[in-house]
Amino acid sequence: MVHFTIDGREIEAEKGENLLKVAKQNGFDIPNLCWMEHMLPTGSCRMCLVKVEGQRGLKTSCTLQVEEGMNVTAFDDEIEGVRRTNLEFILSDHNYDCSICQQSGECELQDVAYKYQLGSEEIKKLNYLTEKPELESDYTSPVLNYEPDKCIKCGRCITACNIVQGKRVLSFVERGFFMYPSPDFVKWGDSTCDGCGECVQSCPTGALVEKPLVSMIRAMDIDKKVKTTCTYCGVGCQVEMWVKDEKVVRVRGVNAKPNNGRLCVKGRFGYEFITNKDRLTTPLIRKNGVLEEASWDEALDLIAEKMTGIRDTHGSDALAGLASARCTNEDNYIFQKFFRASLGTNNVDHCARLCHAPTVAGLGKAFGSGAMTNPVEEFADADCILITGTNATETHPVTGTYIRNAAAKGAKILVIDPRKIDIVDDSYLWMRQKSGTDVAWINGMINVIITEGYANESFIKERTEGFEELKKAVASYTPEKVEEITGIKADDLREAARVYATSEKSSIVYAMGITQHVTGTDNVLSLANLAMVTGQIGRASTGVNPLRGQNNVQGACDFGGLPNVYSGYQKVTDPAVKEKFQKAWGVDSLSPKDGLTIVEIMNEAAKGNLKGLYVMGENPMLSDPNLNHVKEALEKLDFLVVQDIFLTETTEFADVVLPASSAAEKEGTFTNSDRAVLRVRPALPAPGNSRGDWEIMCDLSTRTGYPMSYTDSNAVMEEIAELTPIYGGISYERLENEHLAWPCPTTEHKGTTFLHAKKFSRGLGLFTPVDFIPPAEQPNKEFPFILTTGRMLFHYHTATMTRRSAPLREFAPEGYLEICREDLIDLGAADGDKLQISSRRGVITAKAKMSDRVAKGVIFIPFHFSESPVNALTNDVLDPQSKIPELKVAACKVELIKTTANES
Ligand code: SF4
Ligand code: SF4
Repeated sequence: MVHFTIDGREIEAEKGENLLKVAKQNGFDIPNLCWMEHMLPTGSCRMCLVKVEGQRGLKTSCTLQVEEGMNVTAFDDEIEGVRRTNLEFILSDHNYDCSICQQSGECELQDVAYKYQLGSEEIKKLNYLTEKPELESDYTSPVLNYEPDKCIKCGRCITACNIVQGKRVLSFVERGFFMYPSPDFVKWGDSTCDGCGECVQSCPTGALVEKPLVSMIRAMDIDKKVKTTCTYCGVGCQVEMWVKDEKVVRVRGVNAKPNNGRLCVKGRFGYEFITNKDRLTTPLIRKNGVLEEASWDEALDLIAEKMTGIRDTHGSDALAGLASARCTNEDNYIFQKFFRASLGTNNVDHCARLCHAPTVAGLGKAFGSGAMTNPVEEFADADCILITGTNATETHPVTGTYIRNAAAKGAKILVIDPRKIDIVDDSYLWMRQKSGTDVAWINGMINVIITEGYANESFIKERTEGFEELKKAVASYTPEKVEEITGIKADDLREAARVYATSEKSSIVYAMGITQHVTGTDNVLSLANLAMVTGQIGRASTGVNPLRGQNNVQGACDFGGLPNVYSGYQKVTDPAVKEKFQKAWGVDSLSPKDGLTIVEIMNEAAKGNLKGLYVMGENPMLSDPNLNHVKEALEKLDFLVVQDIFLTETTEFADVVLPASSAAEKEGTFTNSDRAVLRVRPALPAPGNSRGDWEIMCDLSTRTGYPMSYTDSNAVMEEIAELTPIYGGISYERLENEHLAWPCPTTEHKGTTFLHAKKFSRGLGLFTPVDFIPPAEQPNKEFPFILTTGRMLFHYHTATMTRRSAPLREFAPEGYLEICREDLIDLGAADGDKLQISSRRGVITAKAKMSDRVAKGVIFIPFHFSESPVNALTNDVLDPQSKIPELKVAACKVELIKTTANES
C-alpha cells in the first residue's frame, strides 16, 4: 500500500493503482471522457488533468500511477479553467442538438458540459476554430448507428473493439477535425464487425447507439432497468434489460463477473423474440389432427389422466421427460421431482446428453467432478491455452474475448481443430487433426512430455494414481505414429507438448468437438491425463475447462435432469441417497435403477415400449441425431406433451402444447459454465395465459395425485439447498451481493473459484490409459465426405429465439454448407449453389459457402436451420460410456442440384 494526498486529504491505495480510479473511488469527481477502467489509458480528452507536486505542468491523472508521498491537486482555479477550455474544444466539434439525441440523459459529454455550464451559445463562438468536415452518418450495420456529428474522437470505441473484445475491427482514419473511427475503412455493413456492440456501450456520447429500437431507448424515458442473466450461452453474462411500454428496448452489459460489462451480439441484440407475436399464449390440445386452444384446466387434466393412465397400464418406465438447459434451476428441479416422485421413473434426461455427457463421465472419473475447473475470466491471465474442439469466439463469444486478451498479453495459444476457426489468427500454433483422432494426438503429447522429461513428477507422485499404466499406454504414440493417424506434423506435436508442459499456467479449453464422438469419454479422459501429467490443474488460469453450450446446461445437470442422479449428482442407485429423497419428498418408494438417456428414450419409443413423453423447452426434432428416427419415435408415442414458448418442429407431433414463460419473465437462477449461480429476474409479465415452467409442473403434479406447491422460486431454492450438498450455502439473499460458484456447502462458505486446489474431489486424480479407436463411420466411394456440425455466432440452438430477432436474422438469414474451393470445383459448383447432401440416414439441401476453414473432403453445416436440418444426416451411434451420439463425424455424399446461374 502507498499513502499520498489529494487536495490535502490522506489517501491509502495499492501501489501502482491508477490515480484517476483511486481519486474517483475516494469521491473526487474528476471529469473524464476517454478513460475506461481495466484498459490502457489514452489521455486523449485531457479532462482529467491534475497537478502533482514536484512535476512540471498539468498531468492527465488517467495515465499516472499512485506513489508513496505524492501530493496531488485535483481542483483549483487554474485546473478548472484549463478543463473548461479543453471542453470547449471538444464541444466545438460536436454539432448536435441534445434534445433529440437518444443518449440524452445518460450522455457523459452532456453531464460534463452541464457541470461546466457550457451551452450551445458559447460553443457557437468557437466555430471559427473548425473547418466543419462533411462526414456522412453510417446506418448500414444491422445493430448500430454512427453519427459523426456527435463523435468527440475519444477513441473509447476503438479500445473497446480492439482491446476489450480483441476484434481489431476499428481504427481512426484521417487526421484532426476530419478524423473518425472506421470499421475496416469501409461502411459498417460491409465490414467484419460482428455486432457485439462493445463500442456502442463504451461511447460517452450518442455518436454510436443501438439501432433496433433507436427511438425508444432514451434513458430518461425508460420505465425500469432489470439486472438479470443472458438467456443464451453458458457464459452467463450479466445484463441490464431496459424496459419501456412492456417491451425490452435496450440491453447493456453489467460490470460484474463473469463478463465484466462485455456482451456478444446475441446477448445484446437477441431480445426481440420476447415480445414476438408468435409467442404461445394459451394451452393447445390436438383434436382431429389440429391443435386447438384450450383452458389450463382442460389441458392439465388431460395430461394428468393420460400420464397416470400410461403409468398404471404400462408401468412408470413407459414414461419419460426431457428437462431443459434453457429453463431455470428451479424449473429443472421441480421437473425431475415430478417424474421421480409422482410418476415413479428415472427416465429424465436433457440435451446435455448431446453435448457434455462425456465430460460428466470423464472428468467425474478422473477428478471426481464433471464440471469446468476454472472461471472464464482466468483465461486472460494464462500463459498457454490449449483450445480443442471449440470455436469459442463464436459459440461462447465473451469467453473468446478473454482468450484473445491472453493472446494480446503474449500467451501462446495452441489450437487443435479440423476447422480453421477465427482464434487461429491469434494462435501460436494451429494443428489440423483428422476428425475423430483426438485420443491419438493427446496420447502423443503425453508421450513427448514423458520422454523429454517435462512430466511434473512431484505432482504425479503426490496428487495422482495410475501413472505407470498411462506411461505404458502412451509409449507407442510416438509423434511419427501420431502423424500417420491424425495428419498432425510430428514436430508441431512436439512443440505443442513442450509449450503446454513448460508454461507457468496452461489451461485446456474444449467443447463438443471433443465430446460428440463414440470416443467422447475417452477424449475427455485423455485431456484429464494431459493436465495431470504436467500438474496444470488446481491453480488459477490452469485446469480442464469444458465450455457448456446452453445458458443453463450446467444447472439442468446439477438439478437432476439426468437419468442416474438426483440434484447435486447424488446417485439414484445409492440406497442412502434414495432414502433421503424419499423422506424429504414424502414418498414410499423411488425407483432404484438408472433411467433411459435421450437416444435410448427415442429408441424405446420407436420400438413401442415407451408410450408417453413430456418435453420441456427442448426441440428434439431439430437437435437430436438421425431425425428420421426421431420422427418415427415421436409418431409412435401414445401421448406427447411439449411445453415451450413457441411452436417448434417437435410441437408438430404433440398432443398437448403448454405455453411457458421465457427467461425474461421469470424469477430464478441459472448456473453458468464455470459453476457460478446467477440470478434471473423478470423484466416483463408473461404474455397471455402463459405460465412459469415450475408452476405448471406443480399444478400438473397435484392433478396426478402428488401435490406440490411453493410460495415462490425462493422456496424451491431453499428445498434445493437442504437436499443438495454442493448448493448447501446458496440462497437468493446471498446471491444479491455475492458471486458464488459451487461447491458452496454452507452459508459461511465463499464458493469455489477453481476446483481441485489441494486435492481432487475424488482424493487422488486418476490416470486412465486410453487407446485410439477410429470414428464409427469412415468416408468411402459412395459417401466420400466427412460431415461435421456445430454452432455459429448469430444463432442459438434450434434458432427458435434468434431467428425471431431481426438483427440476428439480418446477419445470418439462412443455413449453409462450408466447403473448400477445390471440392466445389470437383463438384462443378460455385459459391452460393444449392447442393444436396446425403448420408446413410437422410438427405438435405443447403447453399454452398466456399471457405478455407475446412480441409478437402470435409464439410461443415451449422445445426440451427430447419430448412437445412443437418441432424437428418448425423449418426446416432453412441459412445458406450456416456451414451452421447457421434454428431461430429458422418460420412456423406455432396451433389450439385442447382447453380446460381440456373436460379437467376
Ligand atoms: S460492434 Fe463490436 S466488432 Fe463491431 S465495431 Fe463495435 S466493438 Fe467492434
Ligand atoms: S457470450 Fe453468451 S452469455 Fe454472454 S452475451 Fe453472448 S450469448 Fe449471452
